[in-house]
Amino acid sequence: MDLLEVRNLHVQFDTPDGTVVAVNGLNFSIAAGETLGIVGESGSGKSQTAFSLLGLLARNGRASGSARFEGNEILNLPEKQLNQIRARAIAMIFQDPMTSLNPYRKIGPQLYEVLVHHMGNTQKEARIQALAMLDAVKIPEAKKRLESYPHELSGGMRQRVMIAMALLCQPKLLIADEPTTALDVTVQAQILKLLDELKREFNTAIVLITHDLGVVAGLCDRVLVMYAGRTMEYGPVEDIFYRASHPYTRGLLHAVPRLDSPGATLATIPGNPPNLLQLPPGCPFWQRCTSATEQCQAEAPPLRPIGDNRLRACHLEIPELSEVV
Ligand code: SF4
Repeated sequence: MDLLEVRNLHVQFDTPDGTVVAVNGLNFSIAAGETLGIVGESGSGKSQTAFSLLGLLARNGRASGSARFEGNEILNLPEKQLNQIRARAIAMIFQDPMTSLNPYRKIGPQLYEVLVHHMGNTQKEARIQALAMLDAVKIPEAKKRLESYPHELSGGMRQRVMIAMALLCQPKLLIADEPTTALDVTVQAQILKLLDELKREFNTAIVLITHDLGVVAGLCDRVLVMYAGRTMEYGPVEDIFYRASHPYTRGLLHAVPRLDSPGATLATIPGNPPNLLQLPPGCPFWQRCTSATEQCQAEAPPLRPIGDNRLRACHLEIPELSEVV
């Protein structure tokens, strides 16, 4: 059985200008210990997908469909039940650690509180476990850091503390929303390596949300490429990287910096994502797609299997899946 199975997920927001459809019929699943990358530009619906699972949508948002965690429905659960799930079963880390850390409290007490409140530990037990977890996320001088305030740590260290905090209750699923976007490239690589190591050590499944396809390469088993709230392509990471078949995925890939061609000009995808208040008919990507036809403008392509374990939403004939990179 999959750890998490999401079916026909819709997320909508009521605004004075009308209804924004942020997520439109999303399906995916993740098994224990697996890592799924959800990739797309800003506004593609990837973060709202995560927020809807944990009951964190803004007040004007609503989710429908189904999300089963270990076989039990979790979408739209009452707050009390969601609170238990959020700490002990599914944890989330964000781009900015300061959204989770209280700037006025030392790191130690913030970590102990999680263990005392959710796991019923004593203060003494909590301190021992917090220290062990800071070691696990490779924070140097962990004892000293327990006495530090968040502003006394670097951005990379704060992100490590947040990962430690998220893993304290040993969740089965960790949702990481752009966890490295605010960090420089070296620290970004260290944090991704750390997530990979922790995943193996604790057998935690990870949903990694990012706008950067390059970030998912070394960490993810499968990748879901989102655009305008819909799945464009979904499959094993090797297929997405070496045999990308959707024009949008190809566009994202060409925008990833290459180490073997330094100085090369990065390609961008011309235009902007569509207005989610007034989605054009047809394929949501047609206004930016160089392969668009009349059919693309009139008819939304269904998500169809292409080969084993792989889905794509595009009217184009399945091309020779030649190497892209
Ligand atoms: Fe491009 Fe048409 Fe495929 Fe959409 S359906 S990605 S517009 S070719």
